[in-house]
Amino acid sequence: MENNLKKVDIIFEVDDKCTPLEVLDKTLKRSADDIILDLIDSGLKGRGGAGFPTGLKWKFTRNESGDVKYVICNADEGEPGTFKDREILDRVPEKIFAGMTICGYVIGAKEGYIYLRGEYNFLLKNLLKKLEDFNNALKKRNIDFRIYFKSGSGAYVCGEESALFESMEGKRGEPRNKPPYPTVAGYNSKPTVINNVETLVYTTMICHMGPEKFKALGTSDSRGSKVFSVSGDTPIPGIYELELGMPLHEFVNEFGDGDTKAVQVGGASGHCVPRKKFNDTIIGFEGIPTGGSMMIFNSSRSMYNVLHDYLEFFTEESCGQCTPCRVGCQQLLKGIEAVKRGERPPAYLDDLKKLTGTMKIAAKCGLGQSVGNPFNSIIDNFREEIIY
Ligand code: NAD
Repeated sequence: MENNLKKVDIIFEVDDKCTPLEVLDKTLKRSADDIILDLIDSGLKGRGGAGFPTGLKWKFTRNESGDVKYVICNADEGEPGTFKDREILDRVPEKIFAGMTICGYVIGAKEGYIYLRGEYNFLLKNLLKKLEDFNNALKKRNIDFRIYFKSGSGAYVCGEESALFESMEGKRGEPRNKPPYPTVAGYNSKPTVINNVETLVYTTMICHMGPEKFKALGTSDSRGSKVFSVSGDTPIPGIYELELGMPLHEFVNEFGDGDTKAVQVGGASGHCVPRKKFNDTIIGFEGIPTGGSMMIFNSSRSMYNVLHDYLEFFTEESCGQCTPCRVGCQQLLKGIEAVKRGERPPAYLDDLKKLTGTMKIAAKCGLGQSVGNPFNSIIDNFREEIIY
């Protein structure tokens, strides 16, 4: 089958002729409004998974009044199957620091924080050394912006932005109601830009290469490229930067082992796509958006076990604050176990699907709201594996 999958090298590219500090120097000579216009023009959408337009996020925060604003880098990469930010943090941290500093200049913030997943603390030694050099370079240039690290403690829910702010403020990591969005009231209830690691690197690179080159990649709904964490039944697991908008069958041709029966797109909270839909599925905001996790399953895998693992994970990681998520996750897990043991009829799976509908409407944050993605896509496409 024809394969047009395009590999890209923007995020990890090291250009000795233009370092992140040099990109910063040239960018800070421009007006904040021009930088925002370029970001909007580039079409860059948030790479954490949800895809909110980055230029608009910066613009909304810039438009807020007040002397104290913050830039936060969300490095709490906790989605099962996702490990691309770890690699970015390790290999090109200066590009993250530069993106945060540009953002600080645009919105009028003097402090930036990187909230690092607790399990990634082993990266800290290297990161703190590089950060010290970067903060010194800012000082030398009289740029009134400093970056700091804060470590998480291993709670998945703290990757949800408002729970992350609570955690940074020294409270229990529990999500807040939204709105207000962070652009209005984020960390310490001040206007805050919070972006994913990868998004911040793309902002640096768009300032470097201009919006035209970036938007020449991808599709009209999904401009540019994205870093994917590829795992599971593949001979070549790892991190790959690919053009957005690719048909899933091309991805499977490249990364599968010839016996792929399903791909879980977007980590445990994403969608499970079966082989019969590979041809019709686009990876991008017009199809299935993803924070970058692609887990490949071949025919040796039990999709019951896969779903069971996901539900155990969500049950464990639900913060317990809201009833739909706390009780819903438990009921879904117990429910598939009961069907498997024959204690409930197969039709009970349809009741459980209705429960995910309630969770989508009533759960307070993305954790409970998105459990229906893997649940319904696995039940709908692999029902026989759940029942018998
Ligand atoms: P969301 O759609 O509510 O918001 C996305 C971003 O846009 C947020 O920063 C939000 O503050 C901002 N936003 C939305 N509307 C806004 C407005 N009107 N004004 C200003 N800002 C606005 O999504 P979410 O709940 O923040 O995130 C859910 C996503 O997280 C899912 O798509 C999932 O893929 C992803 N996720 C990622 C990981 C990971 O490890 N990377 C883990 C779990 C989930």
